[in-house]
Parts: sequence; structure tokens; C-alpha cells
Amino acid sequence: MNLKEQIRGKALELGFEDAGFTGVEPLDLYIREIESRPPEMYGWVRTESFNVRRGAAFAEKHPWARSLLVLIRNYHRRAFPSSMVGRIGRCYQVDERIERGDEHRRLGDMIDFLKGQGLRVWFDEEVPARMSAARAGIVTYGKNCFVYARNAMRHASWLESIPLILDAEIEPDEPSIELGCPSWCKNACIAACPTGALYSPGKMNPKRCIAYNSYYTEGITPLSLREPMGIWVYGCDRCQEVCPRNQPWMNQDLPDNGPLTARAPDFDLPVLLDMSDEHYVERVWPKAFYISRKNGSKWRMNAARALGNLGDREHVSPLARSLADSPDEIVRGMCAWALGRLGGSAAREVLEAGRTREEGLVRQEIDQALDAMG
Ligand code: SF4
Ligand code: SF4
Repeated sequence: MNLKEQIRGKALELGFEDAGFTGVEPLDLYIREIESRPPEMYGWVRTESFNVRRGAAFAEKHPWARSLLVLIRNYHRRAFPSSMVGRIGRCYQVDERIERGDEHRRLGDMIDFLKGQGLRVWFDEEVPARMSAARAGIVTYGKNCFVYARNAMRHASWLESIPLILDAEIEPDEPSIELGCPSWCKNACIAACPTGALYSPGKMNPKRCIAYNSYYTEGITPLSLREPMGIWVYGCDRCQEVCPRNQPWMNQDLPDNGPLTARAPDFDLPVLLDMSDEHYVERVWPKAFYISRKNGSKWRMNAARALGNLGDREHVSPLARSLADSPDEIVRGMCAWALGRLGGSAAREVLEAGRTREEGLVRQEIDQALDAMG
């Protein structure tokens, strides 16, 4: 068995869904795309400290590179707790970059194996993972910008592509940089995107994406995005959930994820709204760490917005409590918005009481909420 077959065989034996190889020449198509997109959309991934344009020409950064191995990790082997689905993106729920588990060990074992073959191995987070996987022939693109397994996972998109730079020249696989969408699907993902972030097949404005707005932005969420963001509090899977290419995987009876199910109550919306800093740092942050440890208020604000969109007036009480007690104005401001969205006499009373003690942003939100209630 040659080295390529040995590596692929080991990856499959360890539980990766697929493995492919590509060369070290720049990912030209990716470079052209990223350079054609407006800086106001994509400037944040081309900074001094993190730059995907630099990653797309990884051999300039790593002159020892001779080939790229790309692995596929399936993050949807087990079912997700129903109380977290639709609120927290699936990939984050099983992210093991902080809380280490089987998936982390699997990658460690693969890297150990490669080193055991005398290879130099490096993971560089700037290397565009999806395009690498497509050039390595193991995925095809969807119009929702996600990639779908070509040979495994019933061709679903619930995967992470992991590119590993190697110092051995290995024959590249046939690229599959192409759309794999059936012609009969009339852009269901674009139609379903709640914020209009998907604006054209294969084009997405991250600044309008729920995922970006749920964790990367500062300040109170703009009014125009609050309703479209619905009850997502961290990430969004909508354009993958509606995709017919994912239905064969999602229609399976998958085993429960016991440890995750046990953690699910930590992520209930009223719990998130009212959580202490300890709860946030110990129970929430280790799973979903794009929001800093010091910024639990971003989560509380997202939970307030989601409770407003949930439409259940039982949540007037917790929102009223946070409007009165939260030390953070973005949380109080969003509670005011959520109360206005829930409506009803109890919510109105709470808002009118709040109006007498608040000023600035929160007062403005209360006024807007009362106006909206009529
Ligand atoms: S993740 Fe959600 S908001 Fe972002 S493009 Fe997909 S459907 Fe739209
Ligand atoms: S929903 Fe339709 S157009 Fe969008 S990625 Fe899936 S198959 Fe392609």
C-alpha cells in the first residue's frame, strides 16, 4: 500500500468520513472570489492577524509544504437535543476546541499517525477549509455556500473540513469544485434565509447572517434584524435544514447524545437571560466561545430577543425582571423590545414603570416598544 492509501485508510479507520489530497498551488478561485467581494462584507477576514487571502496561498507561508490532506469530520452522528435545535447551531453544540472529547482525540490520533510516518504536519486556521476540501475532491458546493460530502454521510453538509499541510508530495485527487444541487431545487436555501444574507446562489453577506450577528457584533442588535433572527441565539442552521440534500441524513433515527442532552437545560432561553457570570463562564462559554468570557451580556441580550420572538406571554415576568435588574443596557434595551413584541397589559405596565427610571438607549427602546404596541 502506498503512503496515500495508508493515510486515507487510517483516516477512515479512525472514523473520519473521507480524506482527499490536493496540491500546494494557491486556491485561485477562492482568491478571485474573496477579492471580488466588497470590503464591507469581507474585510473582517482579511485583517493583519487573520487573513484568508494569505491562507489561500498557504505554500508562501509554509515553504516546506508539498501537499494538503483534507479530512471530513461528521458532527451530526448523533441527534441533537430538541430544545437546542433551532436556537444554537449544531456545529457549536459539539465543538470540542475547549471541552476535549472523542473528536479531539480522533484528530490527535490522526496527527500522531502522520508524524509516525515521518511526516511534518501543520494545521493553519487561515487555510480556506471548504475550498480545500472541494479541490481535494471530497465535497461539492451548495448554493447556500456550505459544502456537501461527495462520497459519504448520505451526501449531507453536517461536516467540518479539516485541511492538514504535509511535507510529502502526494498525488492530488480529482477536484470537485462544482455545485452539486439538483436542478429541481429552486433555491430553497435562499428563500428560507430569514435575514436575506444569502443574496444570490453561492453568495452570502456575512454581515447579515444570523450567525455573525449572534456572536461577532457589538452593541444592541439593529431593529431591522431582531425579528428575522427569530429564536436563534448562537449561530443558525436554517439554510442547511431546509436543503433537500440534507434530508436523507436528517430523516434517520440517530442515537441520542446523552452528555449533550444533560447540558441542554443550561441553554434554555429563560436560564440564559437570567444567568450568573459563573453559569456563563462554566456552563455556556466552553461550548460556544466566539463571544468572550467577559461578555455574557451578549448571550443575555440574544436570549431576550429570542424570548420576544417566541411569542409566549409567560415570559413577560423574566423579561420584566431583567429590565429592572440587569446592569447592562443592551440587555435592558432588548428586554424592552421583547416586551413590546409580546404585548399585552402586563408588558405595557412593566414598560411604563421602566420608562420613569430609564434614560438613553433603554428609554429609547421603551418608547419605541410602547409606540409599537399602539
Ligand atoms: S446561516 Fe442562517 S442567516 Fe446565515 S445564510 Fe444561512 S439561513 Fe441565512
Ligand atoms: S436548498 Fe437547494 S439550492 Fe440550496 S443548497 Fe440545497 S439543494 Fe442547493
